[in-house]
Amino acid sequence: MPATDVLACPSCEADVAFAAPPVLAEITECAECRTELEVVATDPVLLALAPEVEEDWGE
Ligand SMILES: [Zn+2]
Repeated sequence: MPATDVLACPSCEADVAFAAPPVLAEITECAECRTELEVVATDPVLLALAPEVEEDWGE
């Protein structure tokens, strides 16, 4: 059983490694493109782009 999980970044397809088993809704960052990624499923593990927080129009 592997000690780390390695997934493909949905943005640039670089390897994204997890030191610990990914948990649902965990946010990680791609080391290549600095995109924030969210774990949207764990069986199997699936990554999606995390929602952008820049569009904060309100106070
Ligand atoms: Zn990436």
